[in-house]
Amino acid sequence: MFENKKIFILGMARSGYSAAKLLKKHNNEILITDAKDQNAEQVEELKELGVNFIKTENQAELLDETFDYVIKNPGVKIDHPVCKKAKELGIPVTNEVEVAYSFLPKNVKIIGISGSNGKTTTTTLIYEILKNAKKSVVLGGNIGYPVCSLVDVVKEGDILVLEISSHQLHDIINFKTDISVLTNLSEVHIDHFGTYDYYKQQKIKIFNRHTEKDIGIMNKSNPDSMAYFNQIGSKKVLFSSTEEADACIKNDAIYYNNEEILKLKDVILKGNHNYENIMCAIIAVKEFGVGNDVILDTLKNFKGVEHRLEYVSTVNGRKFYNDSKATNVKSTQIALSAFNEPTILILGGLDRGHSFEGLRPFLKNTKKMIAFGETKNRIKEFAESAGVECDTVEKLDEAVNKAYSDSNSGDIILLSPACASWDQYKCFEDRGTEFKACVNKLV
Ligand code: ADP
Repeated sequence: MFENKKIFILGMARSGYSAAKLLKKHNNEILITDAKDQNAEQVEELKELGVNFIKTENQAELLDETFDYVIKNPGVKIDHPVCKKAKELGIPVTNEVEVAYSFLPKNVKIIGISGSNGKTTTTTLIYEILKNAKKSVVLGGNIGYPVCSLVDVVKEGDILVLEISSHQLHDIINFKTDISVLTNLSEVHIDHFGTYDYYKQQKIKIFNRHTEKDIGIMNKSNPDSMAYFNQIGSKKVLFSSTEEADACIKNDAIYYNNEEILKLKDVILKGNHNYENIMCAIIAVKEFGVGNDVILDTLKNFKGVEHRLEYVSTVNGRKFYNDSKATNVKSTQIALSAFNEPTILILGGLDRGHSFEGLRPFLKNTKKMIAFGETKNRIKEFAESAGVECDTVEKLDEAVNKAYSDSNSGDIILLSPACASWDQYKCFEDRGTEFKACVNKLV
């Protein structure tokens, strides 16, 4: 498909760079363009390989009918002038996932994970369990490594675990997994696609070209996913944390096909949302014959993906959790639902003028809030209206110290900010890292 062709790569960054390198190896003529400056070393390397890089705002002017394909960076808008012109000229628009797929050895088993929430956690869990089971497994996709960069790493017989975003699914053609997970569908991040319906149609392409020979893992309790049940060709396997399903919760344990796989008390991850992610992982790894002992061993040690309700440590009976990725009220609701113990909630950050009212029904275990950052005074006002005591501080280190001194053994101390971090930090990762450093100083 991608050999001896003339190819237009729209948008560089990591995925365009990886695609250009791989395509060049297969004797393609390549033009790569971007509106912004790119990593100079990578541009130089591509030029040396014979790739033509052009920085311009008028990329569409460079496209003509002599090109065979446009490879679009998933971040580029779907109605970009190049995409429109390609359509007029009848040139297929696809992406680096499709390019990589065409070059993978044919007997590699692919597990693809998509969904509105829980992709990274589920992808990581599947990878960690398979690795622990001593399978030859490679991790990539939206989680940080372009699939094109893995083509030379993956060997015949390997398992490839890929997190795939809706942006990536939008432009696939033949890309097909052997096992697909759709964690859930909800109305988030739809600005790129305009409507929720169009976004959902992209997401269900995770089951692209599936037949009864492929496994489709779906959330039985998520009506928006189940609405597509009959359109999906896979052998469907269902999970639910709230009702009977192929994988479900009974007697405080996770069951799959009526067999108890593990007890909830033995896993570090907390919350129904995480139990759902675990169920998806169990269904996927069972296809490779992984034993319950390996699954349990992995989950006994898995503290969560960094900054996503990540267990930090226990200090004098207080358990600290870092949920810095919770940059909106919805994510903080999910975090609060994960605990039955008395909780001190640390929150605050960039003020987008958003309401905290959505937290009210989730505060039954919250004994105190500590608010910091730009939103601290608005949070205090809200907390007091909800009958929860709230202190305000400037900085996160003061918040951690205050939470610790006001807590008792058995309490949860949770950073789940319900706000973006940009008032004080470059990114939510920096905020979470500082939180952990403050906690570690208490020890
Ligand atoms: P994604 O990769 O889809 O953004 P993550 O695994 O990084 O998902 O989790 C991000 C946040 O989404 C978590 O901190 C949590 O608030 C929420 N979340 C995780 N898993 C689920 C799930 N299965 N259902 C609903 N929300 C979830």
